[in-house]
Amino acid sequence: MRCPFCGNIDTQVKDSRPAEDHVSIRRRRFCPACGGRFTTYERVQLRDLVVIKSSGKREDFDRDKLERSIRISMQKRPIEPERIDQMISGIVRRLESMGETDVGSKQIGEIVMEALARIDTVAYVRFASVYKNFQQADDFDKFVAELRPQTAGEPES
Ligand SMILES: [Zn+2]
Repeated sequence: MRCPFCGNIDTQVKDSRPAEDHVSIRRRRFCPACGGRFTTYERVQLRDLVVIKSSGKREDFDRDKLERSIRISMQKRPIEPERIDQMISGIVRRLESMGETDVGSKQIGEIVMEALARIDTVAYVRFASVYKNFQQADDFDKFVAELRPQTAGEPES
């Protein structure tokens, strides 16, 4: 695993342990070249998913992107990080077990909203309000940028 700090390929695993109810393995890694420490997660991937955007464009499913958007919508909410991890794993498992390799971006958004609604109303509202614009914009990076909460304080709608 390449060191994210210096690019050295020869990094060492210091510690491995199961995380999130044993659906992933957490590895603490150490880079002997720069002394950097980082963590990786190993997960089962049942199938390689492809996201079909509403424009018809195809894109490999990216768990990190999904995770980023969900974490942003949950910022400053009193929810344990493990709970969020579990929710994300649940969403990904649902997507993977739908029996199709191709998933619509719309479908993903709906599953996320469903999951968020069960956990936290504020996060749900944040996600849902941005998601509506996103469907027109069809641009995930823009979506993530719009989700970023304003620093001046949130309207609690
Ligand atoms: Zn390094």
